[in-house]
Amino acid sequence: MYNKMSPKAEDFINHEEILDTLAYAEAHAKDRALQEEILEKGKKMEGLDHREAAVLLVSELPDVRESFRELARAIKKKYYGNRIVLFAPLYLSNYCVNGCVYCPYHKENAHIDRVKLSQEEIEREVVALQDMGHKRLALELGEDPVNNPIEYVLESIRTIYGIKHKNGAIRRVNVNIAATTVENYRKLKEAEIGTYILFQETYHKENYEKLHPKGPKANWAYHTEAMDRAMDGGIDDVGLGVLYGLNSYKYDFIGQLMHAEHLEAYKGVGPHTISVPRIRPADDIDPDAFENGVPDAIFEDIIALIRVAVPYTGMIISTRESMEMRKKALELGVSQISGGSKTSVGGYDEGREEENSAQFDTDDARPLDEVIAWLLELGYLPSFCTACYRAGRTGETFMEEVKNFQIAQFCQPNAIMTLEEYLSDYATASTRALGERRIEEFLDDVERADLREKARENVAKIRAGERDFRF
Ligand code: SF4
Ligand code: SF4
Repeated sequence: MYNKMSPKAEDFINHEEILDTLAYAEAHAKDRALQEEILEKGKKMEGLDHREAAVLLVSELPDVRESFRELARAIKKKYYGNRIVLFAPLYLSNYCVNGCVYCPYHKENAHIDRVKLSQEEIEREVVALQDMGHKRLALELGEDPVNNPIEYVLESIRTIYGIKHKNGAIRRVNVNIAATTVENYRKLKEAEIGTYILFQETYHKENYEKLHPKGPKANWAYHTEAMDRAMDGGIDDVGLGVLYGLNSYKYDFIGQLMHAEHLEAYKGVGPHTISVPRIRPADDIDPDAFENGVPDAIFEDIIALIRVAVPYTGMIISTRESMEMRKKALELGVSQISGGSKTSVGGYDEGREEENSAQFDTDDARPLDEVIAWLLELGYLPSFCTACYRAGRTGETFMEEVKNFQIAQFCQPNAIMTLEEYLSDYATASTRALGERRIEEFLDDVERADLREKARENVAKIRAGERDFRF
């Protein structure tokens, strides 16, 4: 039976509740009165539940669809202003014992190179990432208790935090590893990770089992309950994600919101981030073999409705998507993007011989500096900020401050100061000139006079050689 307070996956992601929600939504697809009522609730910017959001998702009223997109843009602006946080994925190992049919790292794929980075190789990758200007990483590894044990992950995190190359530093390491035990999550917490990210892929148990025929990941309940265990281990920032295209998007959209509701109700903290990946071509993987491809217009509606339903949660889109799609996603709700990404193991080290070890093809292959210039030209404020978790603003404290718009007052000056670091240390001459001009305008936009003046002083200090200021 559906119960968002239950620790059991089949209760909080209850199949019948999802089917009932879908039937309810479809029965009200032309119900203008109900849809307008839901939009009015959305305008309070405090979120929608999965039933309400599902009604909007299947709405057959074009003006309602346009209205929720408008609302998403307004919420994005209110919560995130024009700031966009940048990060890069770092692939450590593509050894994997699982059989995920949509991923080239699946165990049976014999024509991919299997690569696991040594600590020295990780150092070279991190130096290359620091030289691009990155401060925030997402670690990616396949699941393999022999090749990628937790000790390897912990050692790698220590290595990464320990590398100080020129003015570079990785200040936040987010981790995307397979579902594991409370004890291992505790170790990750002690290693000072930022967010623990685990994509659900699909919430549909039966399809999940078909897509994951082998290996420990085949256990849907263990996978679905992973975020609860992570929180039991002390990690209070967790990131959800569905791989859109694997299963019916309507089903997974509802499941994703139910998961967020469960975490908020049962653990007191909703997801820190929600990622919206779509399936991409890769070695041994043909996306056309999956029947559930999500067209662009629907994908945009999904992004908009996640923004409306969970306004307090950061949304992430990767370089899987094209520049054009990322531009639309930024308007509709995305607050974090990767830039200059390599999706192969060892991909950042230019001295390394090329291997066939990528997880998927990227569509937006522009170098980070081009992405920064593009964001600036679009009017965004690129941010390398990592202040919150370093200041202890995580979990419940973080969420409360986000909901009261208290954190937003720090985000803007922190974004400006970290952008100035990027411009001073890594930007090309043209990006630097563009950024320096825009920084003056961004500073004028800082609401609190004391923070504005302090940020202005700090920008001058950064230009004079000092680093790492934060509020
Ligand atoms: Fe392994 Fe993850 Fe790829 Fe599945 S999706 S095969 S667990 S790396
Ligand atoms: Fe993120 Fe906190 Fe920095 Fe704002 S101040 S960008 S919420 S880390």
